[in-house]
Amino acid sequence: LKGPIRYKRVLLKLSGEFLSGNGFGIQPEATKALAQEVAKAHQLGVQVAIVVGGGNFWRGARQGVGMDRASADYIGMLATIMNALALQDALEFIGIPTRVQTALTIPQVAEPYIRRRAIRHLEKGRVVIFGGGTGNPYVTTDTAAALRGLEMNVDAVLMAKNKVDGVYNDDPRKNPQARKYDDLTYHQALVEGLQVMDATAMALCQEQNLPIVVFDMFTEGNLERIIRGERVGTLVHS
Ligand code: UDP
Repeated sequence: LKGPIRYKRVLLKLSGEFLSGNGFGIQPEATKALAQEVAKAHQLGVQVAIVVGGGNFWRGARQGVGMDRASADYIGMLATIMNALALQDALEFIGIPTRVQTALTIPQVAEPYIRRRAIRHLEKGRVVIFGGGTGNPYVTTDTAAALRGLEMNVDAVLMAKNKVDGVYNDDPRKNPQARKYDDLTYHQALVEGLQVMDATAMALCQEQNLPIVVFDMFTEGNLERIIRGERVGTLVHS
């Protein structure tokens, strides 16, 4: 490990929209920019696991209206696997060893999720990208982030946001008076309905006392700063 390090193993949650540059699908330029940020964290010697979303392609609850919800959600899970492969490509392009593990098995393109094997990859310095969410419908990749974070025994779940630098008491893009929290308790976030992660996921973090950091992924170096222990974004804890 290089320099002062606050978190030795982290779970980074990336939304699907980060891969699309806010449009649809995958933009190689956007995935490259993401990979550069992950690389800065990886170079510190920190173990990085990633859960990637699928919203740039499909969100079951939103796009699947009129469909059987479970079917719509399985489509979403498959979308996250496409993103996992794109992210893997971008990371390996800049020389970072990775493994993709999926909760729905597609052995031709990725390893199946095997907890102990994923931990071994992390210990060997490979970035592990989890695709397919939890493998179950009715939840989102936020729940996958909490679950895999716990299973990997990470020190924190890092919730990457786009152009929002933490948790506010109102939407800062609409209300200029909105106030940012430097830190928060799980209870406060749940009671006040604050935008940290979805409620199922947060309940899991609360129960297991897993710290969450909400931060702006698109301020260069932010991920590295958090790992070094700088106060960036909002810390959610007990
Ligand atoms: N999904 C699911 N189970 C999971 C993870 C994801 O059913 O464990 C489906 C769900 O339909 C979700 C979609 O996959 O809307 C894409 O994931 P998510 O919305 O979390 O992506 P993000 O918003 O992070 O890009």
